[in-house]
Amino acid sequence: MSYTLQHIAKILKSKSEISSEQLINYLLIDSRKLVHAPTTLFFALKGPRNNGHAFVKELYDKGVRAFVVSESGFQELAPEASFIEVSDTLSALQLLAAHHRKQFNIPVIGITGSNGKTIVKEWLYQLLQDSFSIVRSPKSYNSQIGVPLSVWPMMEHHQLALFEAGISQSGEMDKLQKIIQPTIGVFTNIGEAHSEGFLNIRQKVNEKLRLFTHVKTLIYCKDDPQVHTAVAGLWQQLHRDDSNDFTLFNWSTVSDATLQILTIFKDNGKSLISANYKGQTIQIEIPFTDDASVENAIHCWCVMLHLDVKPKEISKRMKQLEAIAMRLELKQGVNHCSVINDSYNTDINSLKIALDFLVQQQQQPKRTVILSDILQSGKPERELYQEVSDALKQREVHRFIGIGEKLYAYQNLFQQLPNLETKFYKSTESFLSDFPQLTFREEVILLKGARVFEFELINQRLEEQRHQTVMEINLNALVHNLKWYQEQLKPGTRIMAMVKAFAYGSGSYEIARLLQYHKVDYLAVAYTDEGVALRKRGIQLPIMVMNPDASSFDQLVQFHLEPDVYSVSLLNELVDYLKKQGIEHFPVHIELETGMNRLGFNEKELSVLETVLDTTVLKVQAFFSHLVASESPAFDGFTRQQGALFVKMCDRLSAKLSYPVLRHLSNTSGIARFPDLQFDMVRLGIGLYGVESGNTHIREASTLKTSIAQIKQLEPGETVGYGRKGILQNEEIEREGKRRNELEQGGEKPCSFEEQQKALGEISRAGTIATIRIGYADGYSRALSNGKGKVMIKGQLAPVVGWICMDMTMVDISHIPGVKEGDEVIVFGGPLSVKEVAKWADTIPYELISGVSQRVRRLYYEE
Ligand SMILES: *Cc1c(COP(=O)(O)O)cnc(C)c1O
Repeated sequence: MSYTLQHIAKILKSKSEISSEQLINYLLIDSRKLVHAPTTLFFALKGPRNNGHAFVKELYDKGVRAFVVSESGFQELAPEASFIEVSDTLSALQLLAAHHRKQFNIPVIGITGSNGKTIVKEWLYQLLQDSFSIVRSPKSYNSQIGVPLSVWPMMEHHQLALFEAGISQSGEMDKLQKIIQPTIGVFTNIGEAHSEGFLNIRQKVNEKLRLFTHVKTLIYCKDDPQVHTAVAGLWQQLHRDDSNDFTLFNWSTVSDATLQILTIFKDNGKSLISANYKGQTIQIEIPFTDDASVENAIHCWCVMLHLDVKPKEISKRMKQLEAIAMRLELKQGVNHCSVINDSYNTDINSLKIALDFLVQQQQQPKRTVILSDILQSGKPERELYQEVSDALKQREVHRFIGIGEKLYAYQNLFQQLPNLETKFYKSTESFLSDFPQLTFREEVILLKGARVFEFELINQRLEEQRHQTVMEINLNALVHNLKWYQEQLKPGTRIMAMVKAFAYGSGSYEIARLLQYHKVDYLAVAYTDEGVALRKRGIQLPIMVMNPDASSFDQLVQFHLEPDVYSVSLLNELVDYLKKQGIEHFPVHIELETGMNRLGFNEKELSVLETVLDTTVLKVQAFFSHLVASESPAFDGFTRQQGALFVKMCDRLSAKLSYPVLRHLSNTSGIARFPDLQFDMVRLGIGLYGVESGNTHIREASTLKTSIAQIKQLEPGETVGYGRKGILQNEEIEREGKRRNELEQGGEKPCSFEEQQKALGEISRAGTIATIRIGYADGYSRALSNGKGKVMIKGQLAPVVGWICMDMTMVDISHIPGVKEGDEVIVFGGPLSVKEVAKWADTIPYELISGVSQRVRRLYYEE
């Protein structure tokens, strides 16, 4: 199926005269994701803040010649391009996808519900890929934009489609129904989550069910009365017309159903599920025991039965179900490499997604892909590997290693590429035996291999083994937070993102890169060195340095960093230096003192400033000051006074300058609370990392995790750690008011060992402790010692016992069943809010997140 531009204009019912016969393969909505300009059609979408029309020129310069727009006047900018004008570009994208979908007469499974959509979709793919050639939504593409992009890759050779649909408010599902046009529906479940856009649960269920208004079969679980009632309503509505052949395929654990679950038996990491189906008892075994996995697997089971997959095949494939990696992770590897291990599937679509992720991670200059044969694509082999070769070429991959008989056979398709270094092996084994000869150094490596190729063996060789404490940074959360703050800004207000102190502990370069990609306007660091490090790795955004000193002037100039000038003496030194060097129009930010009493010129010093400021050696980029209590309603009066003083000082200085100067005052908490203090730019810090106090719209971005090194059983009277400080306090005794401290207060005169032991034995109990791999040298504050702090293990809190050591900490796990050595421990983040932990440590989240030491590995991921 291929479309010319002319044909597309007709489908979109555009009035524009389009005669171009240009073939279109790619639909593009994000200018940064361009892969192949000659066959790309760009849809200029308009969002609350971004307007795709702003990128037309940039894309034209990169070779794109086809655009769908809702604004006019581009022809002059881009004389050789064609513009399809429509009234709404998003509707046009949806219309095109709906038209494309209509060309196919294959079973299309539409999946919706509150949780589990992506897992059910991916599992169905795992379970059915041996029986069908499948097209499916990439990742969790289920939105108004994601769904059309999912449907577009449907092709003649596909035999089954799996698309998920997600909505956040009423009215959206009808649009998705028209695009997906499912013939089989799967309703996963209804949760309490994301109810914001709906009046109540009933409205939410009914709205979601609108995806199924034309399906032939609906698969769902009867056990939730809300869902069951709503489905019954839909049934009645659809059966008013007798000719309708709509059928229900339901399952239940309690009552009669198409698939009636009889028993669910969990043991040793597996669940054995037996059920009654058409009068027979059948069963499956899955390698998971959590309730969500059981529910997801039963949904998949229903689909397989409905598609008439043989019971024997079903049980064989169910046993092999694999966990779904919901995110792409970038891990530190050997020799300064980074490794993206995306080995849970290898179809061409997910390869492209992973390649795009690879391109965005420009941590190292060189890009390497290690790929296995792609199994069951349904496409002719030569065509398939040609497509892989094209994909590598478009993403400018430098080194390609192909593993498997097929890639080996088609190696000439890759060897033709001019700048690609290639190597081919018939098996993973032969690759591994050659491994010592293949040096991997300073490259980003994407690993993508089908299950049978056992790429985990390659991953083990590439990933750096370090102690197991990691700080995980959720890049989606960061971007979500950035967008949220952007939406609070008045039009035209810029953002300076604070990446000082290693980006509040999250990693300056990695975060700066992400921010540069998302087009923030400015960065700020505390010291010159931090700015130099960013420049050396290729960050090009303007960077303000808040605390420069005279010894770093050379570097400021050499690396195009913009100093904060905060005092008369610094100003004089800088002006002298610039004059000596013969430098003109050097950009600076002038800091004004409005109440913080840290750095900056106060009102009395303005007269000095006025006399020197208007010199040609300087170019004043901005006047700025800092709010001291923008988060605190008690001081709102003071904040407004700071604002007024700031305006007064800026006005006075601006009057002396012959050119306009930006103003910035607000930090995170000021942004939403004081819109009138946003001025030309705001300085976003802690909010980016998701921990503004009281703000529930943002998401914490970092999670600090470690693992258990050893587990010990204690008897009453035993102590834990230095100074014999830690005991497992006997709660009954504690209620009587006797505590460990009384023993110490006995103090001065040393009591005998026997006396001591007796006293300890009385106040303590037996129990279990775990030694975890984190200590104060990692940034786990010693203030959290002796029960003040708690970590989370298997979803439960485990209090710290005794003093925190330099590299290790002991915690009480007596009350948590089933804990093993090696188990994961959450130190903060995720389910254990960093705000809560900061409170225990008697500090603020800023100190906790920025204090995580550099020896702790950082891991960046996208969901
Ligand atoms: C750190 C800092 C900020 C950011 O403050 P947040 O509360 O983290 O948003 C802004 N401006 C200056 C001058 C800072 O030092």
